[in-house]
Formats: sequence, C-alpha cells, structure tokens
Amino acid sequence: MRAIFIAVGSELLDRDRIDTNSLYVAKKLREKGILIDMKISVCDNLENLSWIVKNAYKRAQLLIITGGLGPTEDDLTRESVANALKKDLLFKESIVDEIRETFLKRGIRRMPEINKRQAFVIEGAEVLTNNIGTAPGLYIDDEICKVLLLPGPPIEMIPMFDKVFEEKIAPLSNFFIYTKSLKFSGITESETDSKIAEIYAKYKNPRTTILAAPGLIEVHLIGRSKKSIDEAQTLTDELAEKIKERMKDYILTEKDISFEELIVNELRSRQITLSVAESCTGGAFGNRITNIPGSSEIFLGGIIAYSNELKAKMLEVKEETLKKYGAVSKETAKEMAQGIRKKSGSDIGISITGIAGPGGATKGKPVGLVFMHLNSEKEDRGIYKIFPNNRNIVKTGAVNYSLNLIKKYLDDK
Ligand code: AMP
Ligand code: MG
Repeated sequence: MRAIFIAVGSELLDRDRIDTNSLYVAKKLREKGILIDMKISVCDNLENLSWIVKNAYKRAQLLIITGGLGPTEDDLTRESVANALKKDLLFKESIVDEIRETFLKRGIRRMPEINKRQAFVIEGAEVLTNNIGTAPGLYIDDEICKVLLLPGPPIEMIPMFDKVFEEKIAPLSNFFIYTKSLKFSGITESETDSKIAEIYAKYKNPRTTILAAPGLIEVHLIGRSKKSIDEAQTLTDELAEKIKERMKDYILTEKDISFEELIVNELRSRQITLSVAESCTGGAFGNRITNIPGSSEIFLGGIIAYSNELKAKMLEVKEETLKKYGAVSKETAKEMAQGIRKKSGSDIGISITGIAGPGGATKGKPVGLVFMHLNSEKEDRGIYKIFPNNRNIVKTGAVNYSLNLIKKYLDDK
C-alpha cells in the first residue's frame, strides 16, 4: 500500500516549527506494514494545496493530511481536498451543535461565527469527532485512495488518528513487517555505503536506510511479507547476515541499545572500571556514560581539564609536553589518560583533547582535530580524527570515537 503524508501549514515551512505529526503517523503505520512513500509540507495556499492533493491522490492508496482544518481564512484543507476530488462541501448543522458544546465546556457561551466554517463536510466523508479541540476530522472511504483529514495540533491529531487507525486503516493492510537495526562504529557513512550498496541494492524488500551520526552508523532494514511474520523475518535476517559479514570489523550491535549502554554493559560484565579526562568535550563523555543506569558500578568519574593549567595541575601533564607538542597532541592526550587513571585508580583512563572551533586552528592543526587516548595498566592506545567544523559534531564524534577505543580494547582483551 502506497501512503502519502501531507503536512499543511505555512509555519512548517519557516524556521520555527517542524512537522512532527508525520513521525507519529509513520511509526504507527509501519507497525502494520504500511510505509510512507512521500511526505510533503505545503503552505496555506488553496492553489498549491489543491495541486498537491490532486497529484498525491492519483499516486497513493492512502492519503493522510494534517493541519488546515481550523476556523480561520488560512485553513484551506477542506476546500482543497473537495476541489481536488471534485466533490461538494456540505454544511452540517449537527457539527455546529458539537462545536458550540465544546465552547460551552470551556465556559464560552457564544460560539464565534467563524467556527461555522468547520461544519463543512466533504461529500461522502465520515466525520471524526474531536474530543479536545473544535476541528472535526474527515475520513473518505474512497475506492482508489482512502483520504484522511486530521487537525494540526498534535494533542488533537494523535487521539483522532489512533482511533481511525485501529478502526479503519490497520484492517486495510495485508502486510507483515519485521525490522532490524544494525549499529556500526569506526567507519563513515560513505565508506559504509560503498561497502554494502551492492548487497542491499539487490533487495527491494527489505528496504534499507543508512542513518549517520558522527562516529556512529545505523543501518535499518525493514522486511515485508504478505504471507507471515516469519517470512518477513527470514528475508530481513538474510540481508542482515550479508551486511554483517561485509562489515564485521565495524559491527557494534544489532540490539536496540545505545553505544554507551553497550559499553557500560560490557564493562560491568567484566568488572572493569573507567575514568575520563575531558578537554574539548567539556563533560559530554561523562554525561553519556552517566545517562546509563548502573554506570556507577564502573564509572569512577572524571576531570574536565579545559585549560593548560588544569591539565598540568590535576592530571600531571608535564609543562614540557604542553610547551613542546601543545595541548592538542597525542603526547598530551597520552599523559591526560595516564594522569586520570593514576588519580582515580580506575582500570582504564580515557582522554579527549581537541579543537572544537570555530577558532583555535594553528599550522598543521585544523579545527575539528581531536586526539583520544586509552590508558590501562598494560597498554596505551591513541587515535586522532578530524571532524567537520561544528562544535556539536566535534563533541559527539569525539565521544563516539572514544567509546569505540574502549570497544576495540575490550574486543582485543
Ligand atoms: P491547524 O490550525 O490545524 O492548521 O494547526 C494548528 C497548529 O498545529 C499549528 O500552528 C502547529 O503548531 C500545529 N501543527 C500543525 N501541523 C503540524 C505538524 N505537521 N506537526 C506538528 N505540529 C503541527
Ligand atoms: Mg494551520
């Protein structure tokens, strides 16, 4: 079943608001094997809206439209859909009574005249009651394409969608769906794609999507079957195995858990304690680790040594090292990791030092350059990366690559 989602509202095309309704709808539809093919945001303009609805109606079997059902002049969804489907708008007095009731419940005796616009119903549509706001929804049980009109505010849209989903939409689906998400680290998005594109491109089913965060890649597989959930799973597992084989050096997990949770769990099961010395990440590493319940069993703590003075004073980084190699260097990173491990008494010490930008670059040391180091009783291992010039990306990337240092250390142990 081909589903198209249309988010109506000029505010969604500006800088302040974002369409979240489609995320909710997509999640529910997917549970029943219905995937959204297209998602469109449109401004409050009759001509644009009618054009989009007309074209979407021709392509989709299910068309879901949210927003533009309010009482004001810029709420044009009803008119546009009626135009596009060449249907009349009929005035329903019973809806006016319901809207009047809603106002009464809020202590307002006189319903504003403009709310009468909400009592127009597209010919043949079923009216969906709004228990929270005034805008009723509409469902058109069209043979070619089912059309669903829902109010824009999520608190009104969600309960209305849930009800119509259970009653009308879920029974339309004859698909079973099985999803799997594989997580990888130590590899970029483009490297991932060049390794696995030839594998997944052969499969129309499952559908593959690659999601990238700095230092962390997720590959989502969605398998569908008309027969059974077992068939959907078999198809998905088959592709997952091929991808895992090709990406075996980078695989983190196929469980639905975060990178930090994976690391904390692993450290806990092996009873290995951890501490951190952070510079450019300013505590982001410690924050991610301590987001995980039970991390106190293995995480002793850390020091945010942002200045050179603190690196020397708290972590015993040598003045000479700082002078000769600079704060952002593998030598300083090494001494920071050794320093925090010694001070805290942990089994492993992690350090992160880099240039988060936008300023601070020097000759041979660009913005985004980060050194990360792991020190244990028996060994030292360090890496460096150059992340794009954006403070958030540098911080997130540095934390993910530091987690990966721990992962590699544990793999080799
Ligand atoms: P409406 O009057 O139905 O057009 O929508 C009123 C309000 O609902 C808007 O001002 C938004 O704050 C919110 N809204 C509309 N569409 C969406 C959407 N797709 N996702 C999240 N919020 C929305
Ligand atoms: Mg609107």
